[in-house]
Amino acid sequence: MLGRIRETVGGYQALIGAAALAGLVLGWSPVGAQFDLWTYDLLLRAFPPPARPSASLILAIDEQSLNAFGGPARLREPLARAIAALARHEPAAIAVDVVLSEPRSQAENEPLAAALDRAGRVALAANLRLPAGGGASWEDPQPVFAKRAAAIGHVHAEPDADGVCRRVLLAKAGGRTRRWALALEAFRLARGGGPIEESPDGLRTGGALIPAPYAAERELRIRFPNPRKPIERLSLLAVLEDPALAASARGRTVFVGVEVLGGLDRYLMTPYSDGTPAAGVAINAAVYETLAAGDFLLSLSPAAGLLAALATAVLMGLAFRIRRPALLWTAAGAVLIAAHLAPAATFAAGLVAPAAQLVFVSWGTGLAGLAWRLTRSRRELDRSEAQRDRYQKAIHYVAHEMRSPLTAIQGSGELLSRYELTEDKRKQIGELVHRESQRIGKMIEMFLSVERLTSGQLGLKRDEVPVDELLEACVERARPAAERKRIRIERIDAPGIAVLGDREFLEYACYNLISNAVKYSPAQTAVTVRASSGASFIRIAVEDQGYGMDEADLARIFQKFYRARTAGRSGENGSGLGLAIVEEIVTQHGGSVSVESEVGRGSRFTLALPRPEKAQRTA
Ligand code: ADP
Repeated sequence: MLGRIRETVGGYQALIGAAALAGLVLGWSPVGAQFDLWTYDLLLRAFPPPARPSASLILAIDEQSLNAFGGPARLREPLARAIAALARHEPAAIAVDVVLSEPRSQAENEPLAAALDRAGRVALAANLRLPAGGGASWEDPQPVFAKRAAAIGHVHAEPDADGVCRRVLLAKAGGRTRRWALALEAFRLARGGGPIEESPDGLRTGGALIPAPYAAERELRIRFPNPRKPIERLSLLAVLEDPALAASARGRTVFVGVEVLGGLDRYLMTPYSDGTPAAGVAINAAVYETLAAGDFLLSLSPAAGLLAALATAVLMGLAFRIRRPALLWTAAGAVLIAAHLAPAATFAAGLVAPAAQLVFVSWGTGLAGLAWRLTRSRRELDRSEAQRDRYQKAIHYVAHEMRSPLTAIQGSGELLSRYELTEDKRKQIGELVHRESQRIGKMIEMFLSVERLTSGQLGLKRDEVPVDELLEACVERARPAAERKRIRIERIDAPGIAVLGDREFLEYACYNLISNAVKYSPAQTAVTVRASSGASFIRIAVEDQGYGMDEADLARIFQKFYRARTAGRSGENGSGLGLAIVEEIVTQHGGSVSVESEVGRGSRFTLALPRPEKAQRTA
């Protein structure tokens, strides 16, 4: 029994473990990765940064500007004028998100080169070329500009698998040159132009510490500004027409770039896009805002994520072992809700947790727990139905067994009342009535005794009962039935031994074993009843050459109302109660009953009862 419980508990743990593993694997799969991205976007929108004044300004080369100046090829001259106009108002830095890589005439280049010179803190953009055949290289600004710029930063976008841009790699290598991101270069210039110091965990410049670990390719999650407070924009055309507008650049970092939908620049979706993509310049400005505000979103360590998922699995596993349904559902619901809310809670504290693995593990283990619970209830229901079925059969049997003595009593009553009978006849009928009513009485008494025995209500006598007397009485009672089947009963006694207990009950137990041996054996076989004495126990073994039973039956024959499959073959009626009573009787006497059997060969039931001196001591 204990073994079986341990086995089912072990099975349950394995089931929950497998469900947790499946949840983790799904969490690590592309499905989980996409789930994590959606969750991230949802949380980014749910917890936007405060609506603070922007540290940057976008100077947008919009459609009107492009049209006014004659297209992208004619941009250098207006760009020179705009930079000059901005420089007059002392911006923190200027980042030009236009790759000035095409060679043009000196007349076209010179004014822009001069403007860069005068403005001082200007970062220019370099594009990373990734040809299909491999071998990355930089598309740099023309040397005439590059040598005048204070910095050159990369403008390489890093969209996720779903095409949405959520992060930037602050360092990017192409060929032998590694470049910092344009926004980082602009930030460095705005913070005084000092160097960028690297450590494995992050970067340091101008007194700011940027947590971008080397192991994560110096990745930075972009904290897009609060949609209620977008980064201010000015149109290039407007500034050139009214240079006073450039005054709002004071103290801010200006990002100059093309913003024409379907135009020259790269356009990418962001978590806030709602269908309208954002231009590269706006994304670079958002990177700058993240750096300037120091509003960093860090990643929860994978080990912590795993630990949280495992804790969820354990708690869910425990929840489904709670017996009371109301408590079970509350606990399982709480674990599920906690698993869904935990990523939001950590996000609010600036930590991005792997939501998929937590959520999938909670659902996986929850469903596994539910399935386990349902199968267990099903099994319990089946078991109680089987028990009810057996009980009904037993009731039918009892009713049937009572019918013949009752008929005899009724018949006798009728004879007595209707006819004049001789004294002899009356006496004979009286004895019959007495015998048959005693039979009914015994049957009822036995049925009630089982219940009282199992509930421990029955007080047992403690007499010294000689074993040979006991067995003699039982064998004599069984003999008529044995003779009908020409079954020989052999007794092997150990003289002089006795057991301590209730003679009536002990006789019932022994008689039951002997009469079963006769009932469940074919004709012309032998039954051996052997008594023996051991160090602490007296053994009484009843052995037959009958139909026998298989392992499955042996495991259950001591249950109330259970009848083995071979019982049908014998053609014998029975209630399946006898052995349950036998077991109860010997247990109450401090002993035990065991059985060995083989289908087609026979069975041996052995009672082990404590020797009187031992029994006395326990008593
Ligand atoms: P009953 O004999 O009234 O059915 P018991 O509780 O005495 O009930 O026995 C339970 C079942 O165990 C029997 O129905 C029978 O299938 C099986 N059984 C008991 N004793 C033997 C035996 N000696 N040989 C084979 N089967 C047995």
